[in-house]
Amino acid sequence: MGIHWTTAPARVSHWIDNEIHQGGGEGSSPVFDPALGRVARAVDLATQAEVDAAVASAVRAQASWAEHAPQRRARVLFRMKALVEQYADDLARLITREHGKTFPDAQGEVQRGLEVIEFACGIPQLLKGQHSAEVGGGIANWSQRMPIGVAAGITPFNFPFMVPMWMAPVAIACGNAFILKPSERDPSPSLLTAELFREAGLPAGVFNVVQGDRTAVDALLAHPDVAAVSFVGSTPIARHIHETAARHGKRVQALGGAKNHMVVMPDADLDQAADGLIGAAYGSAGERCMAISVAVAVGSIADELVARVKARAQVLRVDDGEAPGADMGPVVTAEAKARIEAYIAAGVEAGAELVLDGRGLTVPGREHGFFVGPTLFDHVCPGMKIYDEEIFGPVLCVVRVPTFADAVALINAHAFGNGVACYTRDGRTAQAFANRIQVGMVGINVPIPVPMAWHSFGGWKQSLFGDHHAYGEEGVRFYTRYKSIMQRWPDSGSKGPEFVMPVN
Ligand code: NAD
Repeated sequence: MGIHWTTAPARVSHWIDNEIHQGGGEGSSPVFDPALGRVARAVDLATQAEVDAAVASAVRAQASWAEHAPQRRARVLFRMKALVEQYADDLARLITREHGKTFPDAQGEVQRGLEVIEFACGIPQLLKGQHSAEVGGGIANWSQRMPIGVAAGITPFNFPFMVPMWMAPVAIACGNAFILKPSERDPSPSLLTAELFREAGLPAGVFNVVQGDRTAVDALLAHPDVAAVSFVGSTPIARHIHETAARHGKRVQALGGAKNHMVVMPDADLDQAADGLIGAAYGSAGERCMAISVAVAVGSIADELVARVKARAQVLRVDDGEAPGADMGPVVTAEAKARIEAYIAAGVEAGAELVLDGRGLTVPGREHGFFVGPTLFDHVCPGMKIYDEEIFGPVLCVVRVPTFADAVALINAHAFGNGVACYTRDGRTAQAFANRIQVGMVGINVPIPVPMAWHSFGGWKQSLFGDHHAYGEEGVRFYTRYKSIMQRWPDSGSKGPEFVMPVN
C-alpha cells in the first residue's frame, strides 16, 4: 500500500475523486510549525471553480453510494477503522507538528475520532425503520431514513482529525457524499484521512476535501447541490454559517465557542478538583472547546483551591509537543499568542489578580515557538473581558461566589453553554446541578464531559446554532431525511373512490 506519511507534503492540496487535486495556483496560505515558529508548508486556497469541481464529483458519486446496502457501506468503515488504528501515530504526529498539542494528547484525539468510525459501523442497525403491518384496508405503513445527498463539513484548527470524524463517518454511513473544508492552519491530517478512506475502499467522490478559507466556505454555503452543512468553530462564524446556509435552504448545524465553568463545592475533594482543573484548563494549551476556563470557588475553599492550582500549574512543563514529558505545547499561531497575551493584559487592567503570568515564556531550543505559559487569575468578575469572552488559551480565571445557588445563577447568565463541571461529594447537589444548569454537556466530578460516540455532542445558547447535536443518533438524524411509505397491493381489496379522510 502506497501510504508513507512520516512528514506531510510541502504543499497541501485538495482531494477530489480519490486523488490529489492541485490548486490552480491562485492562492495559498502558510502553515506553521508552532513549536518552531516557522513556516512548514503551504496550503492551497480553493477557488469557486475548485469547490464546484468537488461538489460535482460528490454528486456523481452519491447516488450509487446510497444504493449500496448499509452493511456494505459499514464494511468500508470497518476497514477504515483498522487503517486508522494502523496509522494512528502518523495522524497524531501530523497533528502535533501543525497544531502544537503534545503527542500523547494527539493520540487521544485520534482515538476519540476512531470511536465515531466504530459507531458508524453499526449503521445497518441505526437505519432500521419502523413498520406497522396493518393500518386498515390492507395497508401497511412504514418509515425509513433516507440520505440527504451531499453534505459539507467546515472544521476548526483545534481537532484536525477528531472533529472531521464527528461528521464524515456518520454522513457517509448514511449514504451521503461528504466534502470536508478543514482549517487552513493544520490541513495535513485531512489528506492522510482521505488516503485512508480510499485505501478502505470508499468509491471516488464520496469523501472529497477542499482546502481553503472564507472563499471556499462561501462557495459551499451557496452551492445548490450541497444539501446540509455541519460547522464547528467560533461563535461569530457559527452564526454566519447558520444564517447563510439556512438562507440557501440547507439543513445546518453550527457548533460555536465556549466558556466552560467548573464549580468546586466546599465538600469536594480539593486535590481531585485541582487536578481536574489543571488538565482541563491547560491541556492542549487551553485550545479545546471543552477546556475549563473558569473555576467557580464556592464558599470558604477559594484560598485553598487557588493555592493548590497555583502549586500544580507553576511546575507544568511547556515544550515542543513531541518532547517527552511535555504537559503543554505551543498555541497555534503568532496571532493566537498575541491575542491571548492581550487578554492577560486586559485582565490586569480590569483589576483581576494575576496569580501566574504565562507571558514572556521561552523554551530553550524553541525560541521562536508560539508559547504561552499557564496563567491563573483570581478575583475575576462578570463584566471583565477575561470572564465574558472566550480566550482559547491557557488562562484560568477563578470567580468566588458564596453559595451553590450563586454558582448556578452565574453560569446560567453566561452567553455560552457548551460544557460545565461540578465537583462535590453530595448526591443531592450533583442532581440539582445536572437538572438546573443551562448547559449542553455536564460533568459531575468529570472535568471534560465530552460525550461518547454513541451519545451526541453539543452545547446550548451561543455554543450551538441549529437543532441537532453532532454524531451519535443526533448525527444520524441530521444526515438523513425521514420518509413515510404507505403500501397496498391490488388483491388486498378496494372500496372504490373515497372522498372523505380515510379512518379506521
Ligand atoms: P474559526 O471559527 O476561526 O474557524 C473555523 C472554520 O471556519 C475554519 O475552517 C475556517 O477556515 C472557517 N472560517 C474562518 N473564518 C471564516 C469566515 N469569515 N467565513 C467563513 N468561514 C470561515 O475557529 P478556529 O479558530 O479554527 O477554532 C477555534 C474555535 O472553535 C473556538 O471558538 C472553539 O471554541 C471552537 N470550537 C467549538 C467546538 C464545539 O464543539 N462547540 C469544537 C471545537 C472548536
